Amino acid sequence: MQGRGGSRSGTTATDDDDAVRQNRSFAAQGFDSPYLKMLKAQIINIQKYSIHDGEGIRTVVFFKGCPLACLWCHNPESRRFESELLFNAEKCTLCLACVPVCPNRAIVKDEKTGKPNAVFSSCSACGACESACLFGAREIVGKLCTVEELMDEIDKDTMFYEQSGGGITLSGGEVMAADMDFVEELLRRCKKRGYSVNIDTCGYAPYENFERVLRYTDAFLYDVKLADPKKHMRYTGRDNALILENLKKLGAAGARIIIRMPLIEGVNCADEDVFAVLELLRPLHIEGVHLLPYHGIGRHKAERMGLSAPAGMAPPGAERLNAIKAHFENRGYEVKIGG
Ligand code: SF4
Ligand code: SF4
Repeated sequence: MQGRGGSRSGTTATDDDDAVRQNRSFAAQGFDSPYLKMLKAQIINIQKYSIHDGEGIRTVVFFKGCPLACLWCHNPESRRFESELLFNAEKCTLCLACVPVCPNRAIVKDEKTGKPNAVFSSCSACGACESACLFGAREIVGKLCTVEELMDEIDKDTMFYEQSGGGITLSGGEVMAADMDFVEELLRRCKKRGYSVNIDTCGYAPYENFERVLRYTDAFLYDVKLADPKKHMRYTGRDNALILENLKKLGAAGARIIIRMPLIEGVNCADEDVFAVLELLRPLHIEGVHLLPYHGIGRHKAERMGLSAPAGMAPPGAERLNAIKAHFENRGYEVKIGG
């Protein structure tokens, strides 16, 4: 079956489908099948003690890979689905231990400055330079994790979830674009333990993916960036038809939805942009709204990846931010600034 690591030799799609069905049936009965144990996903980070991604104290799992390419992205290291190298020049002591270990000659000493320049396009993210660097200047982002490994981390903070009414939030990147067998199994186990689960999503994924997680998910933190499809395409690389369609379907299915709107001056902070978003939310049952003013953390990360940071991105000023908040509140929404 494609999409779960490609076709496997010696099996047909039907064989695979049968095996997956059988494994799901084991899973539903509470047995751990070898297939489910083998599932892996690219994870960037497991952030503990978050108070910004849903109720209470939460553990946030960041998946790698996103179908959108928002110009203001504050997690550019989460865009690609594969592991990749980050270089933090501030930590580099110019010891050059990373140069000879690279099998791809992707780190080259600059003869003028003595700096170890990375040729990111030649890097295969093998991790040899990360191991060789004693100063933490090189880092591979994205590690393949099993469900078991994630659960081991998540389970360490059970006490905090219970005391604070918190739980788990899956974020990214885009979790709904990950291997859904992995995501469903992770959520099934979280629910079995009684953990609250939130999914932070950009909404750009087949609705079938949402259907698979609905029964395990307590709330969706759902991004709405722009109502205008052309502007959406210009700033994110995709139009918003699928995103809005999924939002409607989730609402109709009775999901708890909190809208998250990033705010970038010159992109979506004008009254006409805000009113257009309010108009499309009008028929939906929305539990709350989080307004997320742009911050520049993504610029530094982009530089560490050898990318040029987007120019001209800024948050709205205090007056504009308050005006936007008031527009939402006047329509009866409970509004929070920040997540
Ligand atoms: S090993 Fe680390 S500290 Fe030394 S040159 Fe390479 S990146 Fe810099
Ligand atoms: S991760 Fe591997 S291929 Fe990439 S620069 Fe480091 S040593 Fe070279």
